[in-house]
Amino acid sequence: KYQLLDPEAHPDRGDIDQYSPYYSPLEARKEIHIVLQALEPAEKHARQWQRQATQILLNSDTVNHEYLPILGHPEFNAAAARLILGPESSAIREKRVASVQTISGTGANHLGALFLSKFYSFREDKEVYLSRPTWANHPAIFRDAGIKPAEYPYFDPKTTGLDFNGLLKALNAAPERSVFLFHACAHNPTGVDPTQEQWKEVARVVLECKHFVFFDCAYQGFGSGNFDQDAFAVRYFANLGIPLLICQSFAKNAGLYGERVGALHFVVEDSEMVNRVQSQLSLMQRTEICNPPSYGASLMILIMNNPELFEEWKQDILTMVNRISAMRNELYRLLTEEFKTPGRWDHIVKQVGMFRYTGIGPKESRKLVEIAHVYLTENGRVSLAGLNTHNIRYFAEHLDKVVR
Ligand code: PLP
Repeated sequence: KYQLLDPEAHPDRGDIDQYSPYYSPLEARKEIHIVLQALEPAEKHARQWQRQATQILLNSDTVNHEYLPILGHPEFNAAAARLILGPESSAIREKRVASVQTISGTGANHLGALFLSKFYSFREDKEVYLSRPTWANHPAIFRDAGIKPAEYPYFDPKTTGLDFNGLLKALNAAPERSVFLFHACAHNPTGVDPTQEQWKEVARVVLECKHFVFFDCAYQGFGSGNFDQDAFAVRYFANLGIPLLICQSFAKNAGLYGERVGALHFVVEDSEMVNRVQSQLSLMQRTEICNPPSYGASLMILIMNNPELFEEWKQDILTMVNRISAMRNELYRLLTEEFKTPGRWDHIVKQVGMFRYTGIGPKESRKLVEIAHVYLTENGRVSLAGLNTHNIRYFAEHLDKVVR
């Protein structure tokens, strides 16, 4: 009765993007040979803020294993909303944000999709516009929620940059009140983000066409090294009054992958609507997980609300982003100056975030796996967080071989 599916052959299979810049042991998956065999000094000292928060939590009298409320820890939801919308946010001040704690970013995406499927007044078919390409899980999440995935042009292979005109055309061509999913920053898998000026233009068209924006924010901090700068698009759109929701994950930026810490925020027109949205979210949460997990959220409350820990966290993010950026520069130097590898490689230094979309195809990607045991997704995406001063030459050398 039940068809046996090979997860590897399934079109929506997950991609391997679990290399953490913080090097949590889970990232050292067996099949990945290029791992951080020898840690960079900065990484050895990373995450003090996380260890300190853990100590505070374990030493506190109030630590327990009780259920959280259905919508999650109110302090966590409030601090998470402040992080993405900003301490000056008029939406927060005017109590126009409906938040729910979720099972990390995936749970936020799922609950957001389900909510729209049930309550959004789609003009025509239930459809969501996703960037081409996007995180491999997006189409499956929306399909499961009864929303058909459609695509808008995003990555231009010719320039290995943003297809800005294609994106604007798609926004204009979609029926009014369509749902567009945007990666808030550090786009996965391409590492290509619109500039602030481009975001402003996108917002103008979105507003004109009355579209709804589904922001997925899984890498706040990893785009620029700065939380506020990475929240630019979300804050700009929210300030314009564009109807939107935000999926927020603390897996990568706080290295809390396995704790499943995330939130879903709806920015709505008034506090009356907040009550309505939250009552529906409560019902949906109740049937799915009843109560979100408390440990990771409790850590994040301490980290986000304690000025010292928050400062250390911010510094660590900057260190990681600078390290990844140094790897980008070194890889670019190796390919263009030392190996004189054929092809254009300037996108390496132009892209942001943990990932690099190399621009190589499935054939070359498979060859890299076979000859060098460098594991990457078939679309040519590698995680730069997995590169360090000890393995970068090896990687560049073999990348050079497979494209010749
Ligand atoms: N959204 C994007 C774009 C992602 O890349 C990921 C993870 O890879 C997620 C959401 C969900 O991550 P998590 O559920 O671990 O928070």
